Amino acid sequence: MGWIEERQGELVELAVELVRAPSLLGQEEAAQQIVASYLETAGFQVRRVEVDAIAALADEQAGYPPLDYTGRTSVVATHAGGGGGRSLHLSGHIDVVPVDEPEGWQHPPWAGDVSAGKLWGRGSGDMKGGLAAYLLAARAVAEVCDDLRGDLLVSSVIEEECGGNGMWSVLRSGHVADATLIGEPTGLTLGHAGTGVVWPRLTAAGTADHAAHAGREGPFDHLAAAVAALRSLEAELNRNAHDSIFATASAWPYGLTIGRIEGGVWTSSVPSALVVRARCGFGLDHSPAEIQHEIRVRVAAAAPSVRVDFDAFRAQAYCHDATGPFPETLRAAHRDALGAESRTSVFTATTDARLVEGPCLCYGPTAGAYHGRDEWVELDSLAKTAAVVALAAQRWLA
Ligand SMILES: [Zn+2]
Repeated sequence: MGWIEERQGELVELAVELVRAPSLLGQEEAAQQIVASYLETAGFQVRRVEVDAIAALADEQAGYPPLDYTGRTSVVATHAGGGGGRSLHLSGHIDVVPVDEPEGWQHPPWAGDVSAGKLWGRGSGDMKGGLAAYLLAARAVAEVCDDLRGDLLVSSVIEEECGGNGMWSVLRSGHVADATLIGEPTGLTLGHAGTGVVWPRLTAAGTADHAAHAGREGPFDHLAAAVAALRSLEAELNRNAHDSIFATASAWPYGLTIGRIEGGVWTSSVPSALVVRARCGFGLDHSPAEIQHEIRVRVAAAAPSVRVDFDAFRAQAYCHDATGPFPETLRAAHRDALGAESRTSVFTATTDARLVEGPCLCYGPTAGAYHGRDEWVELDSLAKTAAVVALAAQRWLA
């Protein structure tokens, strides 16, 4: 699509600008303003959607609210069609995960360096590159195609990395469409499935005493026993994964990660408490509530003094249909824009796609090291994403 090619430089600039606005959890607004003003300029009607924390807490589909929602909203923009057509929702998340050891990066995480055909930085791949490509595609549809019947909806949501309440609140407020595309970095494949995820938080209390009066075991040992119990659950889940869709993607699709450990103030003092925060994956054969129950039972047996709570995610595994009118529209657009057949993919983690009812796929650029050091997105794949998505949108909304 020539219109997109001519604006490849603008697309990279937009992605750079988004990377330079560090939209960590709780600090999304500066980046959201970039998105909102872009869509306003493109002629969209732009709104903000707030999260109802009390309703989220009560709904098992939602996440546990991680923070106060004051001043933190998702951006929703609409471009109305002439009527009688199919609607489309293009979505991306604005939030990024924190940087561990920024001094270890060759390309500073918030600089938005462009070199070697890539944009570098936290969020470049996951997923500001894909979001920028979707924004350009949306603008192309709004500016170039003036005879469309279906409504185009664009959203930039918060908290995808921490429970999903941005997307949950956008959908709950009635911003739904006949098909949904999410610009996660799928390497130009049709991502249609993701695992379940819960985040257990394990707390072991200690005596807060002098080391002279301690010994034999302490809160760390109780936590170690609790983590060992989670590891045995992880091994069981993965041993039984062979006939699942996720086993085609990985030999160990349901990972347990101990992401954070906190506590203690002095080497010669027993801590008052130690806390371990973990991430636990699982498949379509379990609900989040079942896995939470299983975790509670196993930790209670292995380390009765360890308290179990849950944060952020109660994400069920999902598998959207990769066939049907909408996936075929995307496949044809991929074929016609790029001259190649597309593939499907499954992800051994979750995305906001789990919250969407009806046809929904992830489709986005080629990226690497997301959540890691020197995260990147390939520039060429940004323009390809924009071209394919614009073409698919034009045909779907026609
Ligand atoms: Zn993402």
